[in-house]
Amino acid sequence: MSLANAYAAQDAGTPLAPFQLERRAVGPHDVQIEILYCGVCHSDIHQARSEWGPAIYPLVPGHEIVGKITAVGDHVKNFTVGDLAGVGCFVDSCRTCDNCKAGLEQYCDEGMTSTYNDHERDGKTPTYGGYSTQIVVDEQYTLHISDKLPLHAVAPLLCAGITTYSPLRYVKAGKGHKVAVLGLGGLGHMAVKFAVAFGAEVTMLSSSPSKAADAEKLGAHHFILTSDQEAMKQAAGTFDFILNTVSAPHDYNIYLNLLRTNGTMIVVGVPPEASQVPAFNLIGKRRSIIGSLIGGIAETQEMLDFCAGHNIVSEVEVIDMSYINEAYSRMEKSDVKYRFVIDLASLKQ
Ligand code: NAP
Ligand code: ZN
Ligand code: ZN
Repeated sequence: MSLANAYAAQDAGTPLAPFQLERRAVGPHDVQIEILYCGVCHSDIHQARSEWGPAIYPLVPGHEIVGKITAVGDHVKNFTVGDLAGVGCFVDSCRTCDNCKAGLEQYCDEGMTSTYNDHERDGKTPTYGGYSTQIVVDEQYTLHISDKLPLHAVAPLLCAGITTYSPLRYVKAGKGHKVAVLGLGGLGHMAVKFAVAFGAEVTMLSSSPSKAADAEKLGAHHFILTSDQEAMKQAAGTFDFILNTVSAPHDYNIYLNLLRTNGTMIVVGVPPEASQVPAFNLIGKRRSIIGSLIGGIAETQEMLDFCAGHNIVSEVEVIDMSYINEAYSRMEKSDVKYRFVIDLASLKQ
């Protein structure tokens, strides 16, 4: 056992505050990682506030973890002390079901073990996330991180990166496709970068007029302000894919109308309230809605390698741990450009 400094939510209504936790002893297949940076995902807010149902408290959020290996178990094959390493949204799964065997651990039939707000496979040891100084994880659920990219800007790839990379690959988005990204936040800005890198014609759909110039800098070819009725009318029936990253309750139908025949809305944003979709809005043009959850370990490694090869990182604002509650309220106002990343050195003092 070893101690780690952390920040935790003690219940749904109070701000995050300092907390100390114990990490398990390094087992034969485990690596211990000194956490250097951790991204702040909107899922952290949803869960800290029990917006997706009752959370397990104390809750230490954080699933965009990068750092350095400080210890390895006797049977660890792929990591050595000093290596850079990453941990994403889950730290274990059953390892035997068809999904696990197919590298789709996020869809494990018995449920993945989330990095936080969950229990280990024993069903009783709580998991704690990356708003902490160190973590112990099985090497099979640990990612290799290139030293070619700035580490703080790599952290968000572990969730925002894979969550947008995976569905765009799944639908084979690329040259000849018109892809719209709905919502320019952490996920949205990575979606723009990937869709552009894959060769698609990319339109940013945003509710924030101030983000138009940034969308262009990120590589988007077009920008539509979703409150601009005329522009929305003109865009009707034009997109092959809409990647919906919006975190707040909203009406899907407004955006489904922008899909062409056979077009697909890919839902990755998880608002606390559902949107009703009348059948007519799908059957009229054989439109579909699909969902996608993060990505498996192998695909996450593929995405990280793709980013290292194509010089793709997240646009980040690095913060101290003590700024976290302010960061949350800014994210709730869509005021993040485009991912907060915690420098864990601020928690070590
Ligand atoms: P974020 O950085 O806070 O960005 C969300 C964006 O949604 C905002 O920047 C804003 O973009 C837009 N938005 C917010 N409120 C809105 C409203 N009322 N109406 C219209 N647009 C609004 O959040 P994130 O970290 O990217 O996460 C986005 C969502 O994805 C969250 O629900 C999160 O839980 C979920 N998520 C899912 C997965 C998965 O595996 N499926 C993984 C990670 C996160 P504009 O200013 O451009 O409108
Ligand atoms: Zn996330
Ligand atoms: Zn499984």
